[in-house]
Amino acid sequence: MITVEHLTKCYGDFMAVNDLSFQIEEGHVYGFLGPNGAGKSTTMNIMTGCLSATDGTVRINGCDIFEEPRMAKKLMGYLPEQPPLYMNETPIEYLKFVGAAKGLKGKELAQQIEEVIDQTKIGSVRNKLILALSKGYKQRVGIAQALLGNPKVIILDEPTVGLDPIQIIEIRDLIRQLGKSHTVILSSHILSEVQAICEKVLIIAKGRLVAFDAPENLEKLRQSSNGIDFTVEALPEETEEILETLGISEGYELNEVETGLLKIHVKADTDDVRSVCRQLFFAFSEKQKAIVEMASKKANLEDVFIELTEGDDSLEEGEVEKE
Ligand code: ADP
Ligand code: MG
Repeated sequence: MITVEHLTKCYGDFMAVNDLSFQIEEGHVYGFLGPNGAGKSTTMNIMTGCLSATDGTVRINGCDIFEEPRMAKKLMGYLPEQPPLYMNETPIEYLKFVGAAKGLKGKELAQQIEEVIDQTKIGSVRNKLILALSKGYKQRVGIAQALLGNPKVIILDEPTVGLDPIQIIEIRDLIRQLGKSHTVILSSHILSEVQAICEKVLIIAKGRLVAFDAPENLEKLRQSSNGIDFTVEALPEETEEILETLGISEGYELNEVETGLLKIHVKADTDDVRSVCRQLFFAFSEKQKAIVEMASKKANLEDVFIELTEGDDSLEEGEVEKE
């Protein structure tokens, strides 16, 4: 459906998007997740033909966004971070204007307007001035304009930013509904949000793709960063032997603090970290080796996210990597 290859965007010598490649398949809800400044909006602006790229290609159903922008744009509806709403118009006037700009007219325009009003549930405010609407309703009007022209792909940049908790729930429900009939790509800097709505998550940091997976696999990544730190009165070879009896032959680190005293870190690739603690405790005590300190660490998904997005210290923010 959408193929992005080696996409790069420089603002002067600042590289906002750095060699981004990924594929979006039809019929799923995708999330761009990344801290502020990661390059999410820049990527979306390029994908939707609103911004030029420094390098790379974007193809929508085979149409190159730079070479056949009209064809490609027809396939996408876009809600930018700052929706271009005209405050002194009513939703109806605004949708007529946007629909006409998308080449709709007459009966078809009227019919589509009714459809998108229905889908986004803005019927009750259709004749009020946009400036008088709540942020939640303004966002719905923004989504309604993206839906005009019946695009296959809906791209929503930070659709829930600035909304109150009830509005957030409503907009998320609306996005899930849209996901049943469209390919949806949304961006967010909030992990739980992307987890709640998206089937596939692209984690973007400093303009690069650092992970692309289903939320449940990111969850596994979280589990794999669980671990236990303990200190035991034993020699390295005795410790290795005991760990071996528990089936732990890799994924641990030994650190000899002094002769006969070891600090050990064991990975616990499970959510039941306590049961691993218990096994370690009894295995060592059976061999008369005293554990004198023990602490378990359960990572949360935020930890994984921070690790993924801040882990790359080789590049300072904005620094351009030299080949
Ligand atoms: P995100 O949407 O993930 O928060 P953006 O794509 O808006 O990130 O921005 C990525 C980086 O590019 C940021 O560091 C931002 O300051 C920079 N940037 C965005 N637009 C411009 C611009 N027009 N000129 C210069 N730098 C920009
Ligand atoms: Mg943004």
